[in-house]
Amino acid sequence: MLKTLFLPLCFALVLGMMASCVNQAENKATEKEERSSGETVVEEQVDPSLTVSVDGIEGENIDTVQFKEYVFFSQSVPETVKARMQGKSMKDEARIGYDELRYLTVYHYDFEGHIQRGELVCNRAIAHDLLCVFRDLFAESYPINSIRLVDDFDASDEASMQANNTSCFNYRTVPGTSRLSRHAFGMAVDVNPLQNPFVRGERVRPATAKDYVDRTKNFEHKIDKDDYCKKTFSSYGFRWGGDWRNSKDYQHFEKR
Ligand SMILES: [Zn+2]
Repeated sequence: MLKTLFLPLCFALVLGMMASCVNQAENKATEKEERSSGETVVEEQVDPSLTVSVDGIEGENIDTVQFKEYVFFSQSVPETVKARMQGKSMKDEARIGYDELRYLTVYHYDFEGHIQRGELVCNRAIAHDLLCVFRDLFAESYPINSIRLVDDFDASDEASMQANNTSCFNYRTVPGTSRLSRHAFGMAVDVNPLQNPFVRGERVRPATAKDYVDRTKNFEHKIDKDDYCKKTFSSYGFRWGGDWRNSKDYQHFEKR
């Protein structure tokens, strides 16, 4: 009895989530068209080497959201990606398995305004929301320096942050404590960490971000409460580290 109810319920839930996601994208597209009405609209050239059609996506547990030709998708972590992660972001003693994680392919504008393909590993519980978040940021041409796995930096959070890399999963503790970070469960994302450091007293992470500690200053790529990235994450139920009381983590968005 439970089983016969469970499957249709899941199906309805997934359909509902997809519909809500699609509606927001459509609204955004309309807003953009209205805003640019009267101006000359330059049709953007799509680089075919970047994009992949929905039919061309291989893997298990595929989920997609789309903006124009760009298909943002999640899948079970492929074996090739597991090989990159094992012993780096994924530790032998980890209290989370690959089956609880998803591998995401997303698109973003870099700081030079070029479209780039990015990759993330996150908890399957937030995979769909993250696809929607990054799709919305892309639709708004929100600049993100790079989105690569922390494994490309030997799973060093400091190295990834100094490279101004946006990332999610990393099985690690909160620095200076023995407490596991929300990143250890793939439930937190750090965005443009160089301009949006972690600050607690005199401590700044990354160490190279001292110029960006004073949040009353104006500079590019600053995430504050009015920032589009912050608003987008909030609209999908993520909490922002800039709202914390004792320390500030301006790059950090997480779900409980
Ligand atoms: Zn973080």
